[in-house]
Amino acid sequence: MTDQDYDILVIGGGNAALCAALTARERGASVLLLESAPREWRGGNSQHTRNLRCMHDAPQDVLTESYPEEEYWQDLKKVTGGVSDETLARLAIRDSSHCREWMRRHGVRFQPSLSGTLQLSRTNAFFLGGGKALLNAYYRSAEQLGVHIRYQAPVDRLELRNGRFIAACIGAERIEAGACVVASGGFESNREWMRETWGQIEGEWVADNFLIRGTRFNMGVLLKFLIEAGADAIGDPTQSHCVAIDARAPLYDGGICTRVDSVSLGIVVNKHAQRFYDEGEDFWPKRYAIWGRLVTYQPGQIAYSVIDAKAIGRFMPPVFPPLAAQSLPELARQLGLDAAALVRSVDEFNAACRVGCFDHATLDDCRTEGLALPKTHWARAIDTAPFYAYPLRPGITFTYLGVKVNQQAAVHFGGKPSPNLFAAGEIMAGNVLGKGYTAGVGMTIGTAFGRIAGTQAAAAVAARGAAHALP
Ligand SMILES: Cc1cc2nc3c(=O)[nH]c(=O)nc-3n(C[C@H](O)[C@H](O)[C@H](O)COP(=O)(O)OP(=O)(O)OC[C@H]3O[C@@H](n4cnc5c(N)ncnc54)[C@H](O)[C@@H]3O)c2cc1C
Repeated sequence: MTDQDYDILVIGGGNAALCAALTARERGASVLLLESAPREWRGGNSQHTRNLRCMHDAPQDVLTESYPEEEYWQDLKKVTGGVSDETLARLAIRDSSHCREWMRRHGVRFQPSLSGTLQLSRTNAFFLGGGKALLNAYYRSAEQLGVHIRYQAPVDRLELRNGRFIAACIGAERIEAGACVVASGGFESNREWMRETWGQIEGEWVADNFLIRGTRFNMGVLLKFLIEAGADAIGDPTQSHCVAIDARAPLYDGGICTRVDSVSLGIVVNKHAQRFYDEGEDFWPKRYAIWGRLVTYQPGQIAYSVIDAKAIGRFMPPVFPPLAAQSLPELARQLGLDAAALVRSVDEFNAACRVGCFDHATLDDCRTEGLALPKTHWARAIDTAPFYAYPLRPGITFTYLGVKVNQQAAVHFGGKPSPNLFAAGEIMAGNVLGKGYTAGVGMTIGTAFGRIAGTQAAAAVAARGAAHALP
């Protein structure tokens, strides 16, 4: 089969793309999947994931209790502040109640929730072996079913006629197909675009100090192309999921093990050794996703989580060991901070801590009194050597700008759905997730809309009578 003969092109190589390719192929369509990355880097941000959030009405294999549709929707509504298309959101939520059977058929295995700082055993099903194992299973299944896969195939533009897909182009090469699913992620890896979006704060290009938690291949080329070609955009370009990660993490692909979870157990200071936010405002799972943005607004986009020996063992340690010292001035020296300023900040904090009954699992009564900037829970004096610190930078997980789709995952142009161009995953997640985040919903959206897009793309080409037998 030549590249010109395929029914469906799927652009992207992460969860949404694979879900679309597998589903379309199961319906008899011939499918070519085009992935920007080389084989060893395939899988986009999906390779870094650990779980998906699942609706269920009773305990299931790896999920405890129940998590009904309404509660899931209310959680989503709360985190997005209502910036969510309820119809599309409920579609994804309902899909999550039965997609795992299909995932298992394609080789995905689940395990109970991992212990750690994010308690998710009721709501989230964890992938055995993580996102990498999930994708390996999907790629294996896709190959067995006869999906053709091309790596190092970055599509740079599409040929469209009145919202109808005609062909995809990679440089001078042009590949026609009856339908197309775009699942090429957000634009978080595009540092130029991030720079443009974030601009300068106090003369600094803030995005230059961002680290990208996932793949380097999500450059947003097709997202930009589609919006410029008249696709309806959705979501705020300045919104991104951004967490505080270890400043020593690599620029790309640091993944989950670079996240720093010690914040609520100590204090966080900026490069002037000043505290700037209540570290104990709420449980860490509800607060971890605001700290990237908080660090973004500090000078030089750098901060330091400072803890003492009492905190060790109470949080999941990141991959890099903390800087350690027997005294605060020595710790300040290692961090390049003004020692007197750090000692002053810690002394002020220690003096304001009121003795309570420390319990990291509840919103306890250990708080500061008399500080202009309080710490409202888990406030304990930082007084027991060794002292430790983790340097923090904003770590971008994904962006929210996307293209508008309908219930069939069809891309909208001027309010009208395309007959044969569909979108799935992060490139359309903004329809459901206008802002905010709740753990595991990225994979829920990608799995649901990947499967919808694959089904619809197959239906769009079925009219051409072009079914190719499964092996
Ligand atoms: C560290 C980390 C941990 C996460 N953990 C979780 C989690 O546990 N649960 C959860 O729900 N979500 C998690 N997320 C979010 C999750 O990764 C995304 O919601 C999800 O992976 C999006 O899937 P996708 O297929 O749309 O995008 P991606 O998986 O990013 O795939 C996009 C693909 O498109 C390809 N591509 C891009 N441009 C082109 C082009 N022009 N031509 C061809 N191919 C192109 C890329 O190479 C890539 O393969 C995490 C993200 C990160 C970074």
